Amino acid sequence: MKTIDPSSYQNIVFFTGAGMSAESGVPTYRGKGGIWRQYDYEEYACQSAFERNPEKVLNFHDLRRRAVLDCHPHEGHQVIARMPSATVITQNIDGMHQRAGSRNVIELHGSLWRLRCDHCGTRKEDIGREYETLHCSCGRWLRPDITWFGDMLDESVTIRAMKLIASSDLFISIGTSGTVWPAAGYPALACDSGAFCIEINPEPSGATSFDLVIRNSASVALPELFRMK
Ligand code: NAD
Repeated sequence: MKTIDPSSYQNIVFFTGAGMSAESGVPTYRGKGGIWRQYDYEEYACQSAFERNPEKVLNFHDLRRRAVLDCHPHEGHQVIARMPSATVITQNIDGMHQRAGSRNVIELHGSLWRLRCDHCGTRKEDIGREYETLHCSCGRWLRPDITWFGDMLDESVTIRAMKLIASSDLFISIGTSGTVWPAAGYPALACDSGAFCIEINPEPSGATSFDLVIRNSASVALPELFRMK
């Protein structure tokens, strides 16, 4: 298999989706075992559900947080974390890259480990097994700082991500079906900008024409691709 020497590249971007965390045990979005086959997102993951019943929505996210804490980063996450100057742009909200040691992580869809108050604008890290508090100091309910169905993405985050992708010279897309926009357009942006583009996904994603496609899982493909000394 082709190997990549990261020292030959100046700006490396890893772009990850739910498949990156699948081997850690975090369910993907679609497909077998996908969480939205089990739960109705209109009851648990949209602003109107939160406005109807904030406690029910927060309890659901509390369960997701506990399930994620029982999962652990795999060898693929560790390989990425061993490249501290690389940027990780992730659609995942599970914080698994940071737990593996990656520091340069852009979370496109927010984080399970942060809460915010849409009334006064407070944002608060909350990393335990259970939420420390469900209320803001202003008295309102805090909501998970993640992108729910129907939410807009934070524009400052997407602009930053797109700038980094456009200036990358190595772009590795891992475990994303390429169906959630605008993230689905990022591989094409990287390829059009001249980066060497790699896809790691056991299934065809139907995304852009990559320079190298590896039909294998993240935990196997990443250590093989970056045989680091
Ligand atoms: P998706 O569920 O639509 O697609 C997952 C992709 O990963 C598929 O193409 C699948 O073939 C691939 N895959 C499965 N196992 C893999 C493995 N071991 N190695 C590599 N690839 C593998 O995921 P998406 O494209 O990220 O879009 C889903 C949306 O749901 C995102 O917006 C994300 O925010 C959210 N989400 C996040 C998490 C998480 O935080 N872990 C989990 C589920 C959903």
